[in-house]
Amino acid sequence: MRNKLNAKSVAIIGGGPAGLMAAEVLIQGGARVDLYDAMPSVGRKFLMAGKGGMNITHAEPFFAFIERYGAHREQIKGMLQIFSPEALREWIHGLGISTFVGSSGRVFPTDMKAAPLLRAWLHRLRESGVNFHMRHRWTGWSDAGELCFATPEGERTVQTGAVVLALGGGSWPQLGSTGAWVPVLEKRGVRIAPLRPSNCGFDVGWSEHFSAKFAGHPLKTVVVSFTDAAGVAQRKQGDCMVTATGIEGGLIYALSAALRDEIETCGFATILIDLTPGKELARIEAEVAHPRGSRSISSHLQSRVGLNRVQIGLLRECVPAEAFADPAKLARAIKALPLKLIAPRPLEEAISSAGGVTFETMDDRLMLRSMPGVFCAGEMLDWEAPTGGYLLTACFASGRVAGEGALQWLNNGD
Ligand SMILES: Cc1cc2nc3c(=O)[nH]c(=O)nc-3n(C[C@H](O)[C@H](O)[C@H](O)COP(=O)(O)OP(=O)(O)OC[C@H]3O[C@@H](n4cnc5c(N)ncnc54)[C@H](O)[C@@H]3O)c2cc1C
Repeated sequence: MRNKLNAKSVAIIGGGPAGLMAAEVLIQGGARVDLYDAMPSVGRKFLMAGKGGMNITHAEPFFAFIERYGAHREQIKGMLQIFSPEALREWIHGLGISTFVGSSGRVFPTDMKAAPLLRAWLHRLRESGVNFHMRHRWTGWSDAGELCFATPEGERTVQTGAVVLALGGGSWPQLGSTGAWVPVLEKRGVRIAPLRPSNCGFDVGWSEHFSAKFAGHPLKTVVVSFTDAAGVAQRKQGDCMVTATGIEGGLIYALSAALRDEIETCGFATILIDLTPGKELARIEAEVAHPRGSRSISSHLQSRVGLNRVQIGLLRECVPAEAFADPAKLARAIKALPLKLIAPRPLEEAISSAGGVTFETMDDRLMLRSMPGVFCAGEMLDWEAPTGGYLLTACFASGRVAGEGALQWLNNGD
């Protein structure tokens, strides 16, 4: 089937937060908006992000907020100046959803859920006239420049005045964003930084014994320090989780970009874990050295130092047996346990992707320089950020910028 639309029509491909935001801007601007998504319904990753508490943005000052985008802070800053974290909160309130700032500065909808927000938003978009086309997997362009979709009814081609690609990154592909767009755009001369895991766990290569006994156990309130080969040091407190192959969780995600880069350059990254933050080394050494009588070293460490089973297991896994007979060595290990990370977990398991369409290949409206009329938004762009609402905020803002760019293109042809 071939479908000719007028020049004021726009195709949005991808119905995550970025694509839906672009759709909103374009429909409000008077365009005919058709939104296509490969999945049976839109916003699946957004809904997943809402499981266990939808952290949609952060309330910290703007100058601190933009620092979270690291090497791409300048490009993201431009977008956030157009659609700021405060503007995002107001926009959410406009959907009838109230928000609150948690003790960490993270911003959540009051009910902590993504589904009511998405439901209200989709209702408003449909009422405004956005046409949704589900089970339409975009496969590229025909020789005649039409968009090609694989649908349950067969191939469909579409001609539009502008296109916004908001196809997501490559993590959690079961939710729709598979990264299959990378070779399609590369073939068109678009430079793509390779997609890499971001906010991910890492492999350690535990012994079978440790893995079987402790996988799934949390390590609560520890401090992790990491100094990269260039001497840049980071230190963070929080919780993480022992997995079957290594370690994951919020604390590790927060350091994951630096750890991943270090493994890429050096082959491994060593973190130091303080199992007893707030307790001085000298005190720990005194407790360890305290006579233990007939008690085992494990129950001694439990009662005198306050270590739990998984922490003691970790010491046994990482520290040579002879250190257990040397209170000074053991105390140092408790305060700075070296853990060698050997590989990031695969992209499919990561919370988000680093890499994507490079900023040099787009103008400041996010239009591809080599493909006038084609705009890109969301996680498919080459940036990364920690969790904490920074990912969604930049996705919404880039959708807004791409939507406004496409509107200008439709109206003026430039
Ligand atoms: C478990 C988890 C928890 C998260 N928690 C948070 C959090 O608390 N805070 C936060 O800020 N972020 C969080 N994120 C990240 C956040 O959800 C993503 O960054 C965000 O959804 C990306 O938005 P997007 O619109 O760019 O892409 P996506 O939401 O990935 O949407 C892309 C859409 O494009 C469609 N698509 C892809 N390829 C095609 C194709 N060829 N044809 C047609 N359609 C296609 C997909 O089906 C999908 O609907 C989390 C992510 C995960 C996985």
